[in-house]
This record gives sequence, structure tokens and C-alpha cells, in this order.
Amino acid sequence: MTSTKFWQNNAKSGIIGCMAKHFTLITLTFCASALISSLSAWGEESKSTQVLDPEQFKDPTQILIKKGYLAAKTVPDICAKLFCYCGCDITDKHSSLLDCFTSDHGVGCPICIEEALIALAMHKKGKDICEIQYAVDKRYAKQYPFDSPSENLKKYNSERLWDVDKRPTKSQSKENDKVPELKKNKKSGNCCGGSSEHSKDKKDAK
Ligand SMILES: [Zn+2]
Repeated sequence: MTSTKFWQNNAKSGIIGCMAKHFTLITLTFCASALISSLSAWGEESKSTQVLDPEQFKDPTQILIKKGYLAAKTVPDICAKLFCYCGCDITDKHSSLLDCFTSDHGVGCPICIEEALIALAMHKKGKDICEIQYAVDKRYAKQYPFDSPSENLKKYNSERLWDVDKRPTKSQSKENDKVPELKKNKKSGNCCGGSSEHSKDKKDAK
């Protein structure tokens, strides 16, 4: 082998070795990201399967309940980042709105249902989680039935994405105005922590 050929061969194998290394790296990166995305997809799916089947609410009087459960099933990741202000953080140890729909809790609670409907409606309009949290907090925080916040509420307040600087613009927060109305015989506010209406509903359901 002439010295020119030797260097040419060496350069070639260097390039090939380098390409092989890159290929391995790319393959590994691809596999890792595929694994991560399938894991997070699995996470989403398992969250949504925790929500009770909306189809069980067949009665025409339960149409809003069905819509509420369907909303939670559709956007479980958003509901998991919202706080339910009905008082279930204390009465039922709920840590997020999603918890309201993994049992029959949401059936008797207009606040839970409305919050889930707002989450879905805003998500469909392309609003992000920060705007949705702001809209829900603005509308329902005043309905929180307890004098002092629970540990879960304190945790939520420290983690929520909006604050004075990041507050959505007025036009964005006007989303609040277009909330589906609840049935007239359903009392809104203080449902779980305040009155016995919800616990009565639960008893009836059993
Ligand atoms: Zn609730």
C-alpha cells in the first residue's frame, strides 16, 4: 500500500467510523424520544381512563353531567392542572379538578361540571393552560366555601401559571362570559363544602 493510499483508506474509515457513531447516536436519540412520547401518551391515556364513562349518564336530565364527564375525559391533563373550588379539596381530599370526575362526585356539583366545560371550551379555542387557570380562578375562587385555604389550595396557588405579570389580557379573560348554563334547579356555589345537597345526592346514588 502506497502512503497516499494508506491515508486515503484511513480517511475513509475515519469518515465511516464517524458516520457510524453519528448513526448510533441518532438512533439512540430517536428511540429515547419515541419512548418518552409513548410514555407520556400512556400517561394521558391512563388519566383519561380514570374518568368515569360519560355514557352512563343517559337520562335527558343528566345531559350537563354527561358533558362535564366527557369534557374531563377529553382534556384530563388540563383538568389535572385546575383547582376545583367546590370545597372537595377538604371534603374529599381532591388535589385537582380531575379527581372530581374519577368518582360520582361531579354528578351533584355544578362547580366541578362548569369548570370542566370551561376547560374544554377554552382549549378548543386554542387557549393555553395559563389562560384557562386564570379564567377558572377568576370566576370560582370566590365560591370557595372555607375561610382558610387547604394545603392543596396553597399548593395550587403557588404553582398556578398566571400571576400579576403574566395575567391574560382583558379580551382573553372575557371567555368567562360564555359559560354553558346549568339547570335551573341546580344551585351553584358552595355545593360540596357548604350545603348538604351534594352529600345527599351521593347518598341517593348509593
Ligand atoms: Zn369538585
